[in-house]
Amino acid sequence: MPRPAVDPAVLRGCSGPWDAVVVGSGPNGLLGALTLARRGMQVLVLEAEATPGGGARTLDLGLADGVVHDVCSAVHPLALASPAIGAQWLRARGVDMIAPEASYAHPLDGGRAAVAMRSAAATGDLIGGRRGRVWADVFSSLAAHGPDVMALMLGTAEQRLRAITSPTGARTAALLGRAAALADRSVRSGDDAGALLAGVGAHAISPLSSPTAIGTAVLLGSLAHTGGWPIPRGGSQSLVTAWIAELSELGGSVVTHAPVTSLDQLPPSRVVLLDLPAPSAGRLLAPWARSAASRRLTRRLQVFPPSAGAAAKADLVLSGPIPWAAAQQAPGIARAGTVHLGGSATLINTAEREVAEGRLPEAPVVLVSDPAGADPSREVRGLRPVWAYAHVPLGCPVDPVPLVLAQLERFAPGVRDLVVAARGVPASRMTGHNRSLTGGDIAGGSTALPHLGARPFLATDPHHLATLPGWAPGGEDAEVLLCSASSAPGPGVHGLGGQAAARSALARLA
Ligand SMILES: Cc1cc2nc3c(=O)[nH]c(=O)nc-3n(C[C@H](O)[C@H](O)[C@H](O)COP(=O)(O)OP(=O)(O)OC[C@H]3O[C@@H](n4cnc5c(N)ncnc54)[C@H](O)[C@@H]3O)c2cc1C
Repeated sequence: MPRPAVDPAVLRGCSGPWDAVVVGSGPNGLLGALTLARRGMQVLVLEAEATPGGGARTLDLGLADGVVHDVCSAVHPLALASPAIGAQWLRARGVDMIAPEASYAHPLDGGRAAVAMRSAAATGDLIGGRRGRVWADVFSSLAAHGPDVMALMLGTAEQRLRAITSPTGARTAALLGRAAALADRSVRSGDDAGALLAGVGAHAISPLSSPTAIGTAVLLGSLAHTGGWPIPRGGSQSLVTAWIAELSELGGSVVTHAPVTSLDQLPPSRVVLLDLPAPSAGRLLAPWARSAASRRLTRRLQVFPPSAGAAAKADLVLSGPIPWAAAQQAPGIARAGTVHLGGSATLINTAEREVAEGRLPEAPVVLVSDPAGADPSREVRGLRPVWAYAHVPLGCPVDPVPLVLAQLERFAPGVRDLVVAARGVPASRMTGHNRSLTGGDIAGGSTALPHLGARPFLATDPHHLATLPGWAPGGEDAEVLLCSASSAPGPGVHGLGGQAAARSALARLA
C-alpha cells in the first residue's frame, strides 16, 4: 500500500511525527485523544469546523452583543457521571458544573407543573401517594449506586460483567428494573410521575414505549437525583476548553478548518480514531478495504441506519426569565435547568410517534434551558440566551422557531413579548454547524435496541474497524477505530466512545 501523502493544507505546518490522529473534535474525539495522550502518545486532532468541540460548542451567534449560545448540548448529567470525565477531573480542571436545585420540570396544561428536584425524597413528596413513595425509594437507592448505574447502562461488555458480579451490582440491576417498571407504568397512567418520566424518556426522540425511551428515562432520571443535571458555568465550551488545555499540556494539537475527506490526507500514525458518523467512517475506509470482509464492514458502516427522529435547534435571546404559568403552583419550575414541553405523557407519546412515522406533529416536543437561571454570568445587560430544540422528522425543512415559541407561549403566556432575537436551524440544515448531524440526527444513527445494544454492529471489539498495513512511520501497521456516538455506548456528552476506542487501540499496540 502506498505511504499516505500529507496534505499541507490540512496540516498547516503542524509538526509531527504523530503517534495518533483523531478526525473530529467532538467530546468523543477529544476524550479519545486525551486517553491516548495520557499514555504518552503524540496526538493530532483534525476538526472540519472553525471551532473545536463538536456537540459541546458555545458560540456567539451574533444575536445580541456578548450573549453566547450552546449550539448543541447544554445540560451535562452524563459528563458529570461519566467515568471518562467525572466530577473529580472537572473540579481539578476548574470547570464549574452548576447543578440547579430542580433538575428538570414539566409544565402541564391548566397552569400546573411537575418538578424533579435534586433530592429524590423531595420529588417523591411533590408527586405524592404511592407512586411518590416508589419514586423516592427507587431513585434514592439508585443515586447511592451511581458508578454501578453508569457501568451497567453505558459500560463496555467487560465493565458490565464486572459491575453485575460486584457486591452491589445485582442489587443495582434489580433497582434499574424497578425504575424501568416505574417509567413504563407511570407514562401510561397520566399522573405527575408519568409526565416527568415522559419528558425524560423523550430525550430518546422515540415513542415512549420503546426500550430506548424507557432506558433513557431510567438513566437520565436516575442521574437527576445523583449529581443532578448540571450546566457548566460559561456554557458547554468550558468542557472543551478544559479537554484541549490538558491535551496541549501533553503535547497534543487540535487543528480547525481541517475537513478530512480521504485517509490519504492524514499524516502517518499508528492509530486513527474517527469521531464521525458511521456512514462517513465507512466512506473514508472504503478505498482501503482490500479483503471481502473489510469491504463488507465498510458497506455495513455506510448503511448504518439514521435515528427515527431529529432535532431542530432554536436559539433565542430573551429580555427576562421565562414567565412560566405554573410558577406559583410549582415554584421549582423557575429554578429548573431543563424544562420539557409537550404536555401530558399521552400527548408526548403521540408527538414522538408521529415523528417516528415521518410526520411533523402540530405541537412537537420541545426541550428548553434558560442557563442564566443557574449561571448569572450568561446574562448580558439584561439579555439571556435560551436554548431549545424541537423533535421533528429526520430532514424536516421547517423553521423550528415558530414551533418552539408556540410551545413556550402555551406554558408561559407573554413570553413572545420578551423575545429580542431568535435563530432557527431546521433539521435539514443542522449539518451547517456540525457536519455530523445529517438530517438533524443528533444520536449518531439509530438508537433502536439492536443498534444501541451492538453499536455500530455486533463484534467482540465494536470500535475496531481496520488494520492498515505499513501505514505508520517505519512501515508499521496502523489501527483505525470508530469513537463517535455511532459507536458504543451511543449519544451524549460522556466521552465513553472515545475512551473505549482509545483503550482498544492501546491494547492492540501493547
Ligand atoms: C441540539 C442538540 C442538543 C443536545 N443536547 C445535549 C445535552 O444537553 N447533553 C448531552 O449530553 N448531549 C446532548 N446532545 C448530544 C451530544 O451533543 C452528542 O451526542 C455528542 O456531541 C456526540 O459527540 P461526538 O464526539 O460523538 O460527535 P460530535 O460532537 O458531533 O463531534 C463530531 C465532530 O467531528 C467533526 N467532523 C465531522 N466530519 C468531519 C470531517 N470529515 N473532518 C473533520 N472533522 C469532522 C464535526 O465538525 C464535529 O466537531 C445534543 C445534540 C444536539 C445536536
